[in-house]
Amino acid sequence: NSPQDSLILAASAESGSGLEAARLALLAGADPNLPDEQGMTPLLHAAFKARADLVALLVDTGKADVNWDGHEHGYTALMFAALSNSEPTVLSLLRRGARAYKTNRLGRTASQMAAFVGHHRIASLIGNYFEREELEHYTRCHGLETKPKLPPHLLEDTWMLVTDVNLNPAHLCYTLESRPALLNPAVPRVLELLSESQWKRRDLNEVLSIKFFYLAVAVRHLLAEWERCRVESGKDDGQVSLDQALRRLTQPVGPARAGRGSEELIRRVLREYPYTESNLLRTMIRSLASSRLGCRPTAVSVLNGAVNGQQFFADQDACEVCDKFIGCRHCAGCRVVKYCGPRCQRLNWPVHKPECAKLRQQRLKDEANNASDAAEAATKAELAASEARSEADAALAAAKEARQRADEARALAEAAESEATSAESAAEAAEAKAERAERAAAKARSKVPSGGKGGGIKDGGGDRESAELTVEPQEQD
Ligand SMILES: [Zn+2]
Ligand SMILES: [Zn+2]
Repeated sequence: NSPQDSLILAASAESGSGLEAARLALLAGADPNLPDEQGMTPLLHAAFKARADLVALLVDTGKADVNWDGHEHGYTALMFAALSNSEPTVLSLLRRGARAYKTNRLGRTASQMAAFVGHHRIASLIGNYFEREELEHYTRCHGLETKPKLPPHLLEDTWMLVTDVNLNPAHLCYTLESRPALLNPAVPRVLELLSESQWKRRDLNEVLSIKFFYLAVAVRHLLAEWERCRVESGKDDGQVSLDQALRRLTQPVGPARAGRGSEELIRRVLREYPYTESNLLRTMIRSLASSRLGCRPTAVSVLNGAVNGQQFFADQDACEVCDKFIGCRHCAGCRVVKYCGPRCQRLNWPVHKPECAKLRQQRLKDEANNASDAAEAATKAELAASEARSEADAALAAAKEARQRADEARALAEAAESEATSAESAAEAAEAKAERAERAAAKARSKVPSGGKGGGIKDGGGDRESAELTVEPQEQD
């Protein structure tokens, strides 16, 4: 195997394998930009197999061209990742410079292809992707500035924040706790500038403008909550905990048991968004106008629908509290609702507790129904099997009879053959006898003087009857 073959093989391996093999193949000189006979480069294979880890290796270490478009249908790695419905792979490619606007030979972008096959979350992720360079712009001094609007050390975290598709305020709390540098007044200021630039640019993007404005308001709100908490507790141990803010955000309200703080926060965003002529804003306000706090549709769902599309959560079973959708687990009690971890579960327990037992019973009933359905199906299948079996038996009997008849016919044929054989041997014997007679006749003829009855012999040379007739007088001599 050449290093190139090994690299292709490793890149098209299913999850969990191939990473080390790919690393070795790259070290041995394999080219990650070289297509195989199918016109697929190792990067295209890895993207299609949803291998975010391999994509990272091939681009970072192997210097694979993330926008390679030599595929016969013009498919890029991003398009393959979109078709494989893998958010980590898509993000891995986007964050390595994959261009979302590239189109295939039919003029479709990766986002459109994802939407076409029903991967709405991916379509939204790519469609609303924000290029790193646009954010980088704010980390440099412009005009008379003596310091940039965004401290360069915040670039990475801020970029992660703006490219995250989960807009749930509870999720934002977790993000800020794990990236505490974002609790910096410069971040909401830059987010507001981003919102403005998305609104004022020639190819205006209402979706991103509203998303960034929401993030600006939400981060500012959490920053204030965190500072108040620090003042109240009088301690600053460097540990960032937004627990109190999280509690207020998720405190249940209304028949939908929505998070009160989250609902209020998003309604405030809609009130304060400065570009009131935005059609998207008006649509959102209209959806919420008739519903009171904590009724459906909730403000969180309206925001998600506007920014990520109505289908966003249709095919996901996300965390009940924060909408995280990877790695969630069922509540052990009901095994119906899902949580990303114990923190969200504890937060949701006052709401979920009275329902957990009911949900459990409903699930057991459903399962019992399913089981009885399954039993019924099994009975039907058994019936069908026994019918099939009796049919098979009948067919078997018919086959047996046919075989018997064939045997009989064969016996008859054998008898006829042996008869034929004996007839044949009789014929052979007769022939042999005739030959002997001929030889005797020839011998006799040689003894007959010429001019006698020789003419008669000559005429009947081939005729046994006449030969015998000719021979007879000779025997009598
Ligand atoms: Zn959660
Ligand atoms: Zn439960």
